[in-house]
Amino acid sequence: MDEFDAIVVGGGPAGSTCAWQAERLGLRVALLDAKQFPRDKVCAGWVTPQILAELELDAHEYAAGGRVIQPIRGFEVSLAGGKPARVTYPEVVSYGILRCELDAYLLGRSGAKLFLGEPLRTLARDGGAWVVNGALRAPVLVGAGGHFCPVSRQLAPDARATEPVIAAQEVEFALDAEQARRCPVSPEVPELFFERDLRGYAWLVRKGPVLNVGIGRQDTHDLSGHAQRFLALCESLGKLPPRTPPKRHGHAYVLYGQTPRPLAGDGFVLVGDSAGLAWPQSGEGIRPAVESGLLAARALAAQDLESYARAMEARFGRRDRPLGPGLSDHLPARIRPWLVEKLLGNALFARRVVVDGWFLHRGQAALPSR
Ligand SMILES: Cc1cc2nc3c(=O)[nH]c(=O)nc-3n(C[C@H](O)[C@H](O)[C@H](O)COP(=O)(O)OP(=O)(O)OC[C@H]3O[C@@H](n4cnc5c(N)ncnc54)[C@H](O)[C@@H]3O)c2cc1C
Repeated sequence: MDEFDAIVVGGGPAGSTCAWQAERLGLRVALLDAKQFPRDKVCAGWVTPQILAELELDAHEYAAGGRVIQPIRGFEVSLAGGKPARVTYPEVVSYGILRCELDAYLLGRSGAKLFLGEPLRTLARDGGAWVVNGALRAPVLVGAGGHFCPVSRQLAPDARATEPVIAAQEVEFALDAEQARRCPVSPEVPELFFERDLRGYAWLVRKGPVLNVGIGRQDTHDLSGHAQRFLALCESLGKLPPRTPPKRHGHAYVLYGQTPRPLAGDGFVLVGDSAGLAWPQSGEGIRPAVESGLLAARALAAQDLESYARAMEARFGRRDRPLGPGLSDHLPARIRPWLVEKLLGNALFARRVVVDGWFLHRGQAALPSR
């Protein structure tokens, strides 16, 4: 039996960040993931610059390895089909990355002992310690297995019954030279298309040679229909190149404050999507995954798991009173479509509320990485 201070289940940004930070704080960490890396993850792949600081990741160094890290200097915001408001900045406000590259990079440098291609098969308690797959033993378990995390499922089996889920679908593909030349989507200005009922939005994100087109909705009914209609709109606007691959990939996640999944319990913590932490207004999940990983590692090192839950609420707000409702919750249903079209077409609203506030959290500094 291999003995560790902590076992992390899942090697996405939440798990690899937690393992990296815990190792730096002197803990011995085992990390297992069901997949071999590099592996892909359904995701538009835009990340805020605060994440780079939190991960001590230098954009030039990262790119020097041949990886894609697309500087983003703005967003185009519209009500789908309506006139867009273009919000740009002189500086880089975000980056576009490929998840197969970023996740493998973070995992590789984590310092943890890796067990890849190895799903969690068995989880047992033995004298106050966890035993994973009959081979790894540690006093603390970190659930970082994403939305369907087996740790979260086993240790909080009832939590999912009531939680509303965001369902999303996307297509990501490399543009050939001709497609890249003709593609009207600027790599520096991704495009966001809000749905008329404000229950979701769609996007076009171009990252180096890759185009990602997708949609996420709070209402899971007929997601495929919404995706189909959005792709048709993109085609009619000339945004999608001919020969765009037809196959869409789907995934789900949960917004912060909308799930009873616990953050910490007896001998375990949940981080990232395993705990349901995505930002309510934008659905951004990588930054909460990274930040929860950092905060969980500190709690592990302090041997005070409950301090992780307190630190998360201090950072993101109380879970029973999260950061605030979305735009649609403020507006009377009768005039909503009319008002939304006016607001999203307004340059000041698009800049201050949608991009600065919901998407970039410009007012919120990075967490110190140590
Ligand atoms: C379509 C879509 C677009 C998105 N776009 C963005 C975006 O642009 N920006 C953003 O910030 N967020 C985005 N998100 C959200 C973001 O992808 C997630 O919040 C983020 O990946 C969460 O990271 P994580 O480490 O918690 O989980 P994951 O990245 O899901 O990693 C979980 C890991 O656990 C492993 N695992 C699962 N089950 C087991 C098991 N049984 N045993 C062992 N290992 C297991 C998996 O193989 C995986 O490697 C998007 C989500 C979707 C669905």
